[in-house]
Amino acid sequence: MSAAIRPYWKNFIGGSWVDASDGGRLPVIDPATGEQICEVARGTGEDIDAAVAAARTCFNSRVLLDMPPHERGALMFRIADELEEAADEIALVECHDNGKTLEKGRAEIPLTQRYLRYYGGMADKLEGRQIPLGSGMLDYTIHAPFGVSAQIVPWNGPLPVGARSIACALVTGNTVVLKSPEDSPLSLYLFAEACERAGVPAGAVNIVCGIGAEAGAALVAHPDIDHIVFTGSVETGKSVLRAAAERVIPCIMELGGKSGGIVFPDADLDQVAESAAAGIFKHAGQICSAGSRLIVHRSVYDEVVARLVARAESLGVGPGIEDHEMGPVISAHQLERIVALCRTGVEEGATLATGGDRVAGLEGFFMSPTVFTDVRPDMRIAQEEFFGPVVVVIPFDDTEEAIEIANGTDYGLAAGLYTRDLGLAHRVADRLVAGQVYVNQWWAGGVETPFGGMKRSGYGREKGQEALLGYVQTKNVGIRL
Ligand code: NAD
Repeated sequence: MSAAIRPYWKNFIGGSWVDASDGGRLPVIDPATGEQICEVARGTGEDIDAAVAAARTCFNSRVLLDMPPHERGALMFRIADELEEAADEIALVECHDNGKTLEKGRAEIPLTQRYLRYYGGMADKLEGRQIPLGSGMLDYTIHAPFGVSAQIVPWNGPLPVGARSIACALVTGNTVVLKSPEDSPLSLYLFAEACERAGVPAGAVNIVCGIGAEAGAALVAHPDIDHIVFTGSVETGKSVLRAAAERVIPCIMELGGKSGGIVFPDADLDQVAESAAAGIFKHAGQICSAGSRLIVHRSVYDEVVARLVARAESLGVGPGIEDHEMGPVISAHQLERIVALCRTGVEEGATLATGGDRVAGLEGFFMSPTVFTDVRPDMRIAQEEFFGPVVVVIPFDDTEEAIEIANGTDYGLAAGLYTRDLGLAHRVADRLVAGQVYVNQWWAGGVETPFGGMKRSGYGREKGQEALLGYVQTKNVGIRL
């Protein structure tokens, strides 16, 4: 138990910090030790009702809408500034409830501030169109908010993922009820405190932690929400969409991935190994756009595998708070899932080049950095998301085959390729069915680049200017003068 972590955290509803309606609490577990570090209020359906009512009242009051857009933008800048005060505590809770390394925990703050300032800066730049209808007529479009935006974020990056959706919603005049992830809820409470200090109107941002099947399901099925932003798994996403369909609510769906990077024979293999290792071992592979498949030309296959295995075996694994290179996975359940899928890989005939099991001698939920070779594209380990530090390496002989393998899963979140031939890079990038394509660097991009899925990885875009359009609906006004 870490003495520095507050023992109990309440939900933030209508500008007040409140217990769960029935007094219930949830334990928060440190994945690096398996021990409980604190408790949070366990939000109920009644708490979700209260949060939606607060968001509705705030939306109807027009307090955000009556603010000039540049003032809504300034509010984002103030939240970003206020986060500074909480920086040390955010890094600490990210290590203890999420398993992030200290370096990654610290990096969440400037990243979140970038999102807030990026969208704050766009608040007064979202312009409509004037449409020519001939003399005597004036026609123009308005970007109208939806109303109450219901947001569900996963545990792997709750602060930046939550903050970017909240920022988009607020600058466009929506209000928000966010159901925070039960496995790593703490950083979003600190975000809510920053909102409070920054003067965000009461009810504009409500944060309720709870179990997905309880509070999450109650939120997405609530009769008084107008918009859903969901980040999580495909299976849960489908149930969210079913609830949304009942009331015809628009959704932004950010779901899973099984993203593949293609290594052409002319690539810089040292760079490939560095980039591919970062792409799968960062945050123990618990990133939706992790590079979980590496599709390597047969002529350089052995060399790439050797470099990748060397990188995997040299990684320092241990508690994030001690600033190892790779921390634990989020839960015992997740660790068991990953190990079981590794066993399936061996049964399917793939070769474990390294890893494949939990790290011996460590108490928490630590998975060994794992590399599978001799993998066929149709194997379960090449099709299913591990959401852990496991990469499968698949050989190919010609470019068409590589593209077919890269596109050959249900997912379409990200894809990548490594080559010195820019003509080839453009041609292949064009053919990859993915929302983002990285050339010569996994995760080439940033806050400014639109992010989201194709196929079962979802639809709608977060990040970049495009994201804002997911938070508004076009209203056309036609006037006979
Ligand atoms: P998950 O689907 O189990 O949970 C995501 C969130 O949904 C949690 O807050 C959970 O409480 C909530 N939830 C669960 N059941 C619900 C229900 N019936 N109704 C409403 N909400 C419910 O996913 P996870 O295991 O927490 O996260 C990992 C998954 O998220 C992976 O598949 C990963 O690829 C995906 N992910 C995607 C992105 C992206 O931007 N595309 C980002 C991060 C994670």
